Amino acid sequence: FIYISGLKKSYMSGEVKTEVLKGIEMQLEKGEVGVILGPSGSGKSTLMNILGGIDRCDSGKVLVDGVEINKLNENQLTDFRREDIGFIFQFYNLVPNLTVGENIEVVSNISKSPFNIDEVLKAVEMQDKKHRFPRELSGGEQQRVSIARAIVKNPKLLLCDEPTGALDFQTSRSILKLLQKVNKEFGTTILMITHNAAIAAMANRVFKVRSGEIVETVVNQVTVPAERIEW
Ligand code: ATP
Ligand code: MG
Repeated sequence: FIYISGLKKSYMSGEVKTEVLKGIEMQLEKGEVGVILGPSGSGKSTLMNILGGIDRCDSGKVLVDGVEINKLNENQLTDFRREDIGFIFQFYNLVPNLTVGENIEVVSNISKSPFNIDEVLKAVEMQDKKHRFPRELSGGEQQRVSIARAIVKNPKLLLCDEPTGALDFQTSRSILKLLQKVNKEFGTTILMITHNAAIAAMANRVFKVRSGEIVETVVNQVTVPAERIEW
């Protein structure tokens, strides 16, 4: 479902070229949960941004559900990002002056969506907070809204960049439970970056990144439910 081969990416800062991804090889099957682990600056977010069509690679092959996304033109890439990818970030990225319901509505093409706002808010147990503003919510509640926003379009792939990075253990657990529920109920393929190695227990595959390369891929035969992750 995700197939990446020989993926390279460099950034120029002034005259200096830094190779951030040095030939990434990875695969994830449809319906699986993948976790990316690795030190700060190793290229995790860069890899995820390329997969989600936010950034482009320099060379290599990147296929998502059979589509070679590095060959798409700008319009096609924008459509791919809007229709097929859901993003969840560490700091929620909600629009401060819009309510919960409006935040979900404004970023997603609701008319094309298989779900409505109330359905996704119920799925994340936020149905009674539809008219609140982000500042009136806790961090965990804001992350629930950003999950609702990401899943309302029923994306093929849900990309999560440190979704629990700003949350305490208890709240992290409830967010991970929710992501596991989305994966099970909707069959959504999930790829998640985390600094917490314990979270890897809930993944089908774990990718260990070191300075721009995947140095190890672990396939878990048994995955652990989020509520039983040991911190
Ligand atoms: P963290 O765990 O801290 O989030 P990361 O593994 O996600 O780190 P990336 O954000 O992918 O790391 O960054 C990898 C390297 O690429 C870093 O050295 C960073 O400074 C550099 N980098 C990332 N984006 C850019 C950019 N737009 N321009 C120049 N350099 C960049
Ligand atoms: Mg990062």
